[in-house]
Amino acid sequence: MPTVSIADLRAELQARVAAETRRLGPAGWWRTPLLAAAPADARFDQLPRMAANDHWRPRDLLPTANSVIVFFLPFRKELVRANQPGERPCREWGESYVQTNELIEQVGRALGKVLAAHGFRCGLTPATHNFNEETLTARWSHKHLGHLVNLGRFGVHRMLITPAGCAGRLGSLVTEADMGDHPLVAAREACLLKAGKACGLCREACPVGALTPAGFDRRRCWAQLKENQAGLDYFADLPATTHVCGKCAAVMPCSFSDPVARLNAAAR
Ligand code: SF4
Ligand code: SF4
Repeated sequence: MPTVSIADLRAELQARVAAETRRLGPAGWWRTPLLAAAPADARFDQLPRMAANDHWRPRDLLPTANSVIVFFLPFRKELVRANQPGERPCREWGESYVQTNELIEQVGRALGKVLAAHGFRCGLTPATHNFNEETLTARWSHKHLGHLVNLGRFGVHRMLITPAGCAGRLGSLVTEADMGDHPLVAAREACLLKAGKACGLCREACPVGALTPAGFDRRRCWAQLKENQAGLDYFADLPATTHVCGKCAAVMPCSFSDPVARLNAAAR
């Protein structure tokens, strides 16, 4: 039996998000966070094939890793709605990106501390910008890990759709603790289009046509994120790593919950 339970980690995650929301006051950006975990088993051997040739496996990050933990910080609906109009992200979207990166680091450290108090080491990576600038692929993709621990499923917009939707940010860590399997989704798909239903609204919302039936043009998307960071006056005081857009997550059927699960529940 693990000496740290999944409930302990979920409680710590919620406490960190609540504390940061209290600190920021009305500018607290998040809804109730989610956390899933899985054994560091053979499923992660798929990562180089699924994500990138040079993607790490859990034991590349921590040779004694026994579990992978992925958490999701969903954004408040007001923030996501504010980012919907126009072709450029709103100021709040940029601010929330910066503050959420800080919170992801804080949560990772806090979970690591809970585990360390029981004698378990952890391996952590940065919240973002841990990718190869040439291939635009990450060596440690929180999204792919989220899929493999069954925290959510990929949408055609290449974001992870969790039970709390896709509008939010992910963080992850590995640990020596044997946490067991704690999935939050079981179905194969959470994206309407991928489940054979009508949708494709994220494709229509992309201002640069990076999402098409042929796939995801990551270079086109990255160029837009860089242009937003460099060209928006109201981003001038934000860090140079504020690469955001988010139009494909702004008030979509999958923004705040899993639309396939909703449909299935309504049909019962
Ligand atoms: S907007 Fe529709 S097609 Fe796009 S990811 Fe969400 S559910 Fe899938
Ligand atoms: S983040 Fe923006 S540019 Fe990139 S795919 Fe989504 S809508 Fe298109």
